[in-house]
Amino acid sequence: MSYRCRICEKKFDAIPENAVEVNHQSFYTTYRFPNGLVHDLRVVAQPTPQPEVERQEPEPKQFSTGTMAHAFRNLKR
Ligand SMILES: [Zn+2]
Repeated sequence: MSYRCRICEKKFDAIPENAVEVNHQSFYTTYRFPNGLVHDLRVVAQPTPQPEVERQEPEPKQFSTGTMAHAFRNLKR
C-alpha cells in the first residue's frame, strides 16, 4: 500500500510508526511525521508511473485523409 501527500505530492510506501494522526477526512488522513513535517495522505491504489497523463490532451488532432488529399491537390496547382 502506498500513499500520496496532497500538500507536497510526495509518495510514501508506508506511514512511519511514529507519525501522529492529527486529522482525518473522507479520503485524506493528516499525519505529523517524526521529523515535524505534516503530510495529508491519501491511499494510492496502484503505482502510477505516468501521473501526468490525465492532464494531457487525449489525442493530438489529425487531419482526415480527405482533408490532406485536398490540401496536397491545392499545393500542386
Ligand atoms: Zn507532504
